[in-house]
Amino acid sequence: PGERLYLGMDFGTSGARYALIDKHGTIHSEGKREYPLYMNGETMDWIQSWKTTIFSLLKDVPVHFRPLVASISIDGTSATTIIVDGTTGEPLWRPFLYNESCPDALPMVKSIAPVNHTVCSGSSTLCKLVSWWNAEDSNKKSALLLHQADWLLWLLHGKLGVSDYNNALKVGYDPEVDSYPPWLLAQPYSQVLPSVTAPGTSIGFLKEDIRTQFGFREDCVVCTGTTDSIAAFLAARATHPGKAVTSLGSTLAIKLLSTKRIEDARFGVYSHRLDDKWLVGGASNTGGAVLRELFTDEQLDKLSKQINPTEASPLEYYPLKAVGERFPVADPNLAPRLHPRPESDVEYLHGILESIARIEAKAYSLLKDMGATQAEEVFTAGGGAKNEKWIKIRERVLGLPVSRAMQTEAAFGAALLALKGAQQSIN
Ligand code: ADP
Repeated sequence: PGERLYLGMDFGTSGARYALIDKHGTIHSEGKREYPLYMNGETMDWIQSWKTTIFSLLKDVPVHFRPLVASISIDGTSATTIIVDGTTGEPLWRPFLYNESCPDALPMVKSIAPVNHTVCSGSSTLCKLVSWWNAEDSNKKSALLLHQADWLLWLLHGKLGVSDYNNALKVGYDPEVDSYPPWLLAQPYSQVLPSVTAPGTSIGFLKEDIRTQFGFREDCVVCTGTTDSIAAFLAARATHPGKAVTSLGSTLAIKLLSTKRIEDARFGVYSHRLDDKWLVGGASNTGGAVLRELFTDEQLDKLSKQINPTEASPLEYYPLKAVGERFPVADPNLAPRLHPRPESDVEYLHGILESIARIEAKAYSLLKDMGATQAEEVFTAGGGAKNEKWIKIRERVLGLPVSRAMQTEAAFGAALLALKGAQQSIN
């Protein structure tokens, strides 16, 4: 008794999870929900689905833990955008999903934003906002833009118009000077932008009706969140500059904590702010998807066991599923290279794993050349993280300690933000 717990929720692309932790980061309870299918005519009613899911997750938290919860935070998919009525919070339009593109707004956005700014992509939050603004003539006066996480958090705390600087990056917020830039504030639609705070800032108490319905306590606070991929990085607890997380899923993505902010649109490299540091990220098209085309997961397991990771493979591949690479080589015409294929499948797999490791090494050294903090230690998440031989190969090729991240669930990262918010509201 007396021990307080911290609740994080992750609203990812395929479903939602929660994690309940104590101040040491020990998980006391966790769970998962698929998004229920609600249709609105022909299209998916995401608003209804997310709303149902958040309350399902609250119900999934064991009853005896609920009175111990000190704070709650939520991460959502980046650039998932909801335009609501600024007084009632009711959506004025169906949500724009993270991967939706609004190319119709791109020329206008490009005409106001600096060259190569993050908002200059059809799927940016700003393109979604401009596309809505141009299509809709009613309701503009009272409209308010929220990101998915902001809207879900609003269901819990009831204060409209609050966001965090990770979610707000793709609508144009400048986390370095901590404000929206003048070129954005000069636009008529800037009136719909939410106010922005650091992720893991206490916003207010959990709404009374929810608190009494579910049995949470009176002083339970709700804190600003972040995006799903940042929450997954936070989960690895790589809290010092030079610590990095490589995600080896279908594609290879790297994230490095740096003291310096770096951006390079050619390579799709940009930085998110994390308090007084920068989270630098880049994503390559190489990764596990190529392995999956060639081998089953069982074969991968069996063949990997026979690899001698201390020996360098002489095979030089560039494993891609399709033509084109962004980072660490910016070349839309780069062709996949997976030949010559040796007779031995063990040698073939060794060559592919080694080649992906070389691409990873090149990625970290490119970030350093751009001015980021030199990588010191690499944690790994994703399906490829369980391959011990690959970890050994990568340690040799990167020249750095590599290990599997202890935690990779974004919900755990969101719970850490809840912990941060609770600690700040005490101090
Ligand atoms: P996604 O990006 O689709 O979420 P996951 O993180 O689930 O991907 O990882 C799946 C990938 O992991 C697959 O592409 C698969 O090739 C790869 N993978 C699975 N098992 C192994 C293994 N033993 N060694 C290397 N890669 C593996």
